[in-house]
Amino acid sequence: MKAARLHEFGGDFVVEEVPTPEPGPGEVRVRVGGSGACHSDLHVRAGEIPVHLPALLGHENAGWVDAIGQGAEGFEVGEPVVVFGGWGCGHCRLCLGGQEQLCDTMRWGGIGPDGGYADYMLVPSTRHLLAAGDLDPALAAPLTDAALTPYSAVKKALPRLVPGTTVVLVGAGGLGQYGLQFLKLLSAATVVVVDSSADKRRLALELGADQVVDPADADAMEQIKAASHGEGAAVALDFVGADATMTLGASSLGPQGLFVLVGLAGGSFPFSFFSLPVQATLTSSSWGSRNELEEVLAMARTGRLVSTIERYPLSEINDVFARLAAGQIQGRAVLIP
Ligand SMILES: [Zn+2]
Ligand SMILES: [Zn+2]
Repeated sequence: MKAARLHEFGGDFVVEEVPTPEPGPGEVRVRVGGSGACHSDLHVRAGEIPVHLPALLGHENAGWVDAIGQGAEGFEVGEPVVVFGGWGCGHCRLCLGGQEQLCDTMRWGGIGPDGGYADYMLVPSTRHLLAAGDLDPALAAPLTDAALTPYSAVKKALPRLVPGTTVVLVGAGGLGQYGLQFLKLLSAATVVVVDSSADKRRLALELGADQVVDPADADAMEQIKAASHGEGAAVALDFVGADATMTLGASSLGPQGLFVLVGLAGGSFPFSFFSLPVQATLTSSSWGSRNELEEVLAMARTGRLVSTIERYPLSEINDVFARLAAGQIQGRAVLIP
């Protein structure tokens, strides 16, 4: 089969012929219909996330069941599927409780195990497959990460977002745009989006933001406080994760507010008794569960979720990653083998 593999960190992907994998017991071979080109693969390519070389990446995948290993049940050859990428042990408390993406031994399909930048990929168990129905695989693939991650973060916040409350969303990039949509679809809270890019603020308004704020404004915090009638936000979601965005998000909270860190920029901020609003709660949110992915797919089927994708043949993977690195991709680039 054709695959785009990374042979050295910092190098280009090499599109080459490799053996088509055969599914072992319990495994399923999926014919890839679309694989999302994710920003984290830039970090893998740079050698910042350890993987064995040559590496076959691609962790946002959808396609069709192509071959079924002995004993694998629940799907037929030819069935359209979406791949859940959090491959845990299947036996521990977290896996059995439906939080396989948090398992100690979790391997992310496409970051370590071979992924979907290829004609075919192996999935270790049918429990990592979800029926795609009539969703276009190129549209469905990015939902497994770019939409699932913000969905899981928003779900953590929903119980607090009763009518009359305010939520601050920092960073309206690819994930933040999905986060904004989930907030508007699932809550009655006032949504304030903070982003330094005028284009992203304009897009946020189109996607339903009640108010947008430029963090460079001298009175940015006053604007946020005014939107929450002086009370402060019930929830702040940070899709960037830099020192400045974390400080801004946490400072925007009211008493008992919730700060959810999603972005991987690696920032930090001081936590002490008086540095945050009284009884604030801090948490991170990493990816999402299989059942949450099912919910995201259900939302996509309603047609109310706006997904912006650009389709490219797998052979153009190096051009796509050059554009991704330069910030020139609108929404998500999806590679089609
Ligand atoms: Zn990703
Ligand atoms: Zn486990």
